[in-house]
Amino acid sequence: MKVIKLAEEIQKRSDSLIRDGKKIGFVPTMGFLHEGHLKLLKECRKKCDDLILSIFVNPTQFSADEDLEAYPSDLKKDLELAEKCGVDAVFTPTKDSLYPENYETYVTLESLPHHLCGLSRPIHFRGVATIVTKLFNIVKPQVAAFGEKDFQQLSIIRRMVKDLNFDIEIIGVPIVREDDGLAMSSRNSYLSVSQRKTALILSKAIELTKKAVSEGKISVKELSDDMEDLINSKPETDIDYITFSNPDTLNPVTEITEETLLALAVKVGETRLIDNCVLRP
Ligand code: AMP
Repeated sequence: MKVIKLAEEIQKRSDSLIRDGKKIGFVPTMGFLHEGHLKLLKECRKKCDDLILSIFVNPTQFSADEDLEAYPSDLKKDLELAEKCGVDAVFTPTKDSLYPENYETYVTLESLPHHLCGLSRPIHFRGVATIVTKLFNIVKPQVAAFGEKDFQQLSIIRRMVKDLNFDIEIIGVPIVREDDGLAMSSRNSYLSVSQRKTALILSKAIELTKKAVSEGKISVKELSDDMEDLINSKPETDIDYITFSNPDTLNPVTEITEETLLALAVKVGETRLIDNCVLRP
């Protein structure tokens, strides 16, 4: 497995693979890998000849008051895990190499970022769309995998790939959870023992809502009120949003009459956690 820091080197390597008729698969991450990331690698591996992982904590998707500096990392362990998953090359660029002085080009979408996480993280998806575009141009994959855990991110990338004519197949991978239901996330490492217990309330609230919908409840107001009461009953929780929306447009709905995305973001202590599921009435 090669570990490559320079964009030019990855580009040359990809050019040569493409000349040889090889299919390149790509999984972009911010590192501190867990089973969720590994599932993306395994799914992508099935569809490509050469598998490239990137590890880069992208500064342009963090605002000044977020956890850029504190973001967890363990490159040695990540490389061991990547090798076990059959990764062929890991791209580990530096911030300065991807965003040199006088950098000024960004990718923005008109509508999808103005929902869910985008409301409290106004520059986040501009950063995501920009870095993913840059990484696609560097890695030149034919297939790339993203997690449904970040449902809005996946929607934005699918939209961007269509709108900008990237010739890349996007694979969406279902959320990988801990045995007790907590969605895996690098940020779970911030949680104290008691906060880790509290964090279970996100997946629990989703399960209870799923059940209520399967029993015929369709009022979004009632379903969200129940979720809010349940989450607010736990210490150290602060709800950012609980939203029921159309899975394609992310526009909010008021009744569950067709497939609906239920997504929520809740701070547990200082740690912002997200989770979601698609409700099928
Ligand atoms: P991150 O390192 O958090 O930027 O995530 C990198 C990729 O892994 C993104 O496509 C995420 O959606 C995906 N991912 C993160 N956590 C999970 C999870 N629990 N299940 C599935 N995919 C995930």
